[in-house]
Amino acid sequence: MLNAPAAVALPDRARVVVIGGGVIGTSVAYHLAHLGFGEVLLLERDRLTSGTTWHAAGLMATFGSTSQTSTELRKYTWDLYSRLEAETGLATGLKQCGLIELAIEPGRLEEYRRVAAFNRLCGVEVHEISPGEVAALFPLARVDDVLAGFYIPADGRVNPVDVTMSLARGARMKGARIIEGVAVTGFLRHSGAVTGVRTARGDVEAEYVVNCAGIWARELGELAGVTIPLQAAEHYYLLTQPIEGVDGSWPVLEDPANYGYYREEGGGLMLGLFEPVCAPWQVAGVPAGFSFGEIIPDWDRMAPYLERTISRVPVVEETGIKKLFCGPESFTPDLQPVVGEAPELKNYFVAAGLNSIGILTGGGIGRVVAQWIADGRPDVDVTGINIDRLHRYQVNPEYRATRTVESLGLVYQTHYPGRPVQTARGAKVSPVHERLVARRAYFRDVSGWEGADWYAPEGAEPEAGPLSWGRPAWFGYWEAEHHAARTGVILMDMAFMAKFDVQGRDAGRVLERVSANRVDGQPGRITYTQWLNSVGTLEADLTVTKLADDRFWVVASDTAHRHAQTWLRRHIDDAHAFVTDVTSGYAQINVQGPRSRELLAAVTSADVSNEAFPFRAAAEIDIGFARVLCIRITYLGELGYELYIPAEQAVHVYDRLAAAGRAVGLRHAGLKALGSLRMEKGYRDYGHDIDNTDTVLEAGLGFAVALDKPGGFIGRDAVLAQKARGPLTRRLVQVLVTDPEPLMFHAEIVRRDGRPAGYIRSASYGFTLGGAVGLAMIDADEPINQAYLDAGEWTIQIGDAVYPAAVSLRPLYDPRNERIQM
Ligand SMILES: Cc1cc2nc3c(=O)[nH]c(=O)nc-3n(C[C@H](O)[C@H](O)[C@H](O)COP(=O)(O)OP(=O)(O)OC[C@H]3O[C@@H](n4cnc5c(N)ncnc54)[C@H](O)[C@@H]3O)c2cc1C
Repeated sequence: MLNAPAAVALPDRARVVVIGGGVIGTSVAYHLAHLGFGEVLLLERDRLTSGTTWHAAGLMATFGSTSQTSTELRKYTWDLYSRLEAETGLATGLKQCGLIELAIEPGRLEEYRRVAAFNRLCGVEVHEISPGEVAALFPLARVDDVLAGFYIPADGRVNPVDVTMSLARGARMKGARIIEGVAVTGFLRHSGAVTGVRTARGDVEAEYVVNCAGIWARELGELAGVTIPLQAAEHYYLLTQPIEGVDGSWPVLEDPANYGYYREEGGGLMLGLFEPVCAPWQVAGVPAGFSFGEIIPDWDRMAPYLERTISRVPVVEETGIKKLFCGPESFTPDLQPVVGEAPELKNYFVAAGLNSIGILTGGGIGRVVAQWIADGRPDVDVTGINIDRLHRYQVNPEYRATRTVESLGLVYQTHYPGRPVQTARGAKVSPVHERLVARRAYFRDVSGWEGADWYAPEGAEPEAGPLSWGRPAWFGYWEAEHHAARTGVILMDMAFMAKFDVQGRDAGRVLERVSANRVDGQPGRITYTQWLNSVGTLEADLTVTKLADDRFWVVASDTAHRHAQTWLRRHIDDAHAFVTDVTSGYAQINVQGPRSRELLAAVTSADVSNEAFPFRAAAEIDIGFARVLCIRITYLGELGYELYIPAEQAVHVYDRLAAAGRAVGLRHAGLKALGSLRMEKGYRDYGHDIDNTDTVLEAGLGFAVALDKPGGFIGRDAVLAQKARGPLTRRLVQVLVTDPEPLMFHAEIVRRDGRPAGYIRSASYGFTLGGAVGLAMIDADEPINQAYLDAGEWTIQIGDAVYPAAVSLRPLYDPRNERIQM
């Protein structure tokens, strides 16, 4: 390991210390320096690029994601790398040779057609090409089994080391300092915020620290109590001897079905692999001094995969192998990067866990993190990549080792809707889990919980059958659960919801300030509200129930758990208010549907009539031997109740409900039904159809904003300012495909008079409305109101097919809320 020459003095303070000199750290430093953020210091343990960056293959693909954020990061990265040489004088090796993705099965073809439509919407040029055209562009590829290629002429490759050096020089040219040979060994902290770093050469004080330490980031995070559940895994490519005819101008070829990618290297080929079952590396921790490191390849493990990969380019079977290279790359439990400010420690940022796309998104990641630090909030949707989506248990070594086996391979799987994660299951279960197993629930991973997705009827097994883009085998079970909620009564286990008990003399005042709606009125009432930041965009979407003057019950969705918790904690300041996470202490069982009152009345002595227990009422009621917090509210658009039960009495209460349910036709319903029911009603889901870039008005949630409440709330001025600017030209609308056949999942293109107006953020199937239904954010250059919607001809593009659609600002199901008030 390099030791910094004594002559290079370590400053005793900087505004930001960036840790790690790989592509990510240098990109963060580059962007902070370009923002003029002042005193940016990058510390690298050894030498720049000595971690994972030095051996990356350098593929640059803008194609492939249906996440707007990821696609924008890729596009920005390409743009940045293409102008770096002119700025810094250091070449990046960027080569616009094109990229081809192969589809050899119908499922993959469908996926790529959907991805291509979405990527085109984002400005990426994609062509579907024939097998013959693939062969013309990459003559060594066997194409007899190819259905189609997807060709992106503007994609290509880059030299990862050169790009990192160029970013580093660009950072230095704008005043950043980069010191090699200095490892960060600890952190300085004060009052819940990081205040600097420790090194063998002394401490450096800093306002902000950014952990960009790649495969070391988790262990470094632990030194500050920050949870970064990434895990290194073996990652391979094979280099051949030179092959006659191979041309450096050929596009990069990807054949995910055979686990491989292919490109020219040194006159031969590089064959990269994403094997379906992969090997975590050094679960206990990265060995000291690992720099420019290689892992001894496991030929036996890789042989069957290599065989498949080589089969796409048979010439390799007769070509000498130069090297099977293996290096470690970090993978995360959900294959998304770990980005943003740590919930545990203010001003401690992380940009790590790049899941094999650190080079092709590195520019964009650096830009987002720098902008986030400078402005205090990100300017892109970060709900899917924010560090606060991850949980403490995920750093557990056995969990990491188990989940990572699946992660790397997922990169090349066909991304069918609802593909279940299969590893590290059973990590968290509801208190009534075994009862649901007995009811033949099919479970899926819900933020680590086993969540019942749907139930097989008596006599059938909860088996999902093959994955597909069409109607699954269990479509009919889902439909029956949906109709039961609309016409009878259903029971839904929601134990995974995040629940917080907020107490203290000032609890009401704090919550009133943080919430856009009025939440501190009469006790015994639930309020739906958003939490906004100072520019009026959404930080959380949740309910607040006032139980007593000094006690509130806050419930958020599982994905927003730590974000909501951190947001509230950080806004308490020195007020007398305390947030206790009681998620594990309470079960949540929802009984919903027009007959839910009948069911509840059969198990409690409490008066649950509409008069005594109206919509939005909350009270403790008796069920069996238990005291249960009962709240009359719905997230699926019917009369219904949420029951919060001390965990140890959940089974008892469940049994009482199930027994009484026989008389009223109670059906168990899963999360698929929740999805279809709430989508028909246009109820939003933070992180899926609304996010941190949307204002509360654009999200259509103005009805939940109490602009006139005394004392105001965070974001009020921004809401007023947006109102003053006039009618909205960006709004969330509900979209119904009028043809009952097609299905929507996410990222389908919404068109008005043939022109793209937006895309479906999330979707389901509306069994009551009679077609696929989703929510889309629409942009226009004129006010979006009902007249605008009525004046256009709306269609939805799903893959290559186009269908007529109905578009609405008001919920298509029960727009007057009559059913929930019954
Ligand atoms: C075989 C292979 C092929 C790949 N191919 C591609 C590809 O084609 N396209 C693509 O986009 N991505 C690819 N990747 C992934 C890509 O290489 C990574 O995502 C990326 O390099 C990660 O960059 P990083 O800066 O996060 O990590 P690193 O490059 O590992 O940088 C982290 C740095 O932090 C330093 N550090 C660690 N601890 C400390 C400390 N305590 N103090 C100071 N410094 C510290 C390390 O020395 C290191 O230099 C590939 C990866 C592998 C293994």
